[in-house]
Amino acid sequence: MQSPSDSPAVKFSPHGDFRRTLRERVDAYFARTGLEPRGQWAMYIKSVVLFAWFGLAYSIVVFAPVPFFVRLLAVIPLGLAGAGIGFSVMHDAGHGSYSKNSKFNQLMFYSLDFLGGSSYVWRFKHNTLHHTYANIEGHDDDINMGILGRLAEGQRHVAAHRFQHIYVWFLYGMIGVKWHFYDDFATWYAGRLGDREMPRPRGKDAVALIVGKLVFLSVCFVIPSFFHHIGWVILFYLMAAFVEGVALAVVFQLAHCVEEADFPLPDEAMRMQTDWATHQVLTTVDFAPNNRLLSWYVGGLNFQIEHHLFPKITHVHYPAIAEIVRETCNEFAIPYRVQPTFFGGVRSHYRFLRRMGRTPEAGALLPAASA
Ligand SMILES: [Zn+2]
Repeated sequence: MQSPSDSPAVKFSPHGDFRRTLRERVDAYFARTGLEPRGQWAMYIKSVVLFAWFGLAYSIVVFAPVPFFVRLLAVIPLGLAGAGIGFSVMHDAGHGSYSKNSKFNQLMFYSLDFLGGSSYVWRFKHNTLHHTYANIEGHDDDINMGILGRLAEGQRHVAAHRFQHIYVWFLYGMIGVKWHFYDDFATWYAGRLGDREMPRPRGKDAVALIVGKLVFLSVCFVIPSFFHHIGWVILFYLMAAFVEGVALAVVFQLAHCVEEADFPLPDEAMRMQTDWATHQVLTTVDFAPNNRLLSWYVGGLNFQIEHHLFPKITHVHYPAIAEIVRETCNEFAIPYRVQPTFFGGVRSHYRFLRRMGRTPEAGALLPAASA
């Protein structure tokens, strides 16, 4: 199902020595250490911790005999647990890097349906469009916020975008709700995502989408409504979805929608100036590489350069692979960009949003660093 059709295909330059050298060195790393690229015990233990975290927080919010304010506070770790499962379990499983067993990968990938999003639509949007065409305007749906935001030079500017660096954080909090109740159904109905045609789910894919939504609705609304007034249940849901949405959006945005990342475009013949691997490095930024707790929680998504180059390798290997990638980039004179801290990345995203929110003429007059 995964070949983007419809709009003219973007063509990268042929793979060159950079990608070949990288692959040889990473293969040599696994041969030398004897480690498996997929199916690490660290991943399985992590999954148990994250699902236990989710179950505990859910139990406090819904079942436990605790004061109301404790129930309300527990919504925050519940939302963070949902995002954590998305980062560390669903994302790897969707790329087939969680386990060596493809059926087990698919089973864990359904964790996204359990959390309210369609794994079928994600695979097309993330694996196919985003990973192939990272930061190429009109092809990467992750930089398409429609009228609500402007994330690339070629996108239409409206007056409200001048304030996007302020209001976009609230929108990130609403992403989950929109995703759960609108996006997947709209994409299914339209059979397209942005400018791209998406094959509609059929057979077991359609069943999984429907059953996933029903399970999600049961967990979020039906079961809690036996214990609490539906008004409180809706409030719990909105708060958890807000926390989850902000966490998901910020972590994914820090890798691409920051001042340091490139947004290259194809020429009139739809050819890119670089090969695919170089493109992934130029359009992606790592952040907080030395923050081990953050690296654990975000499922290695702070090493997105490595993830974009090697999505089929389990994320627990990214810190080690990053050394190889950085050295190889230096040898080939390809800029390897790292934001030292998480909040440095947040500030860069804020400045990026502010610059893109200015009118195109005003933005063009200002150098990026002072924007
Ligand atoms: Zn990915």
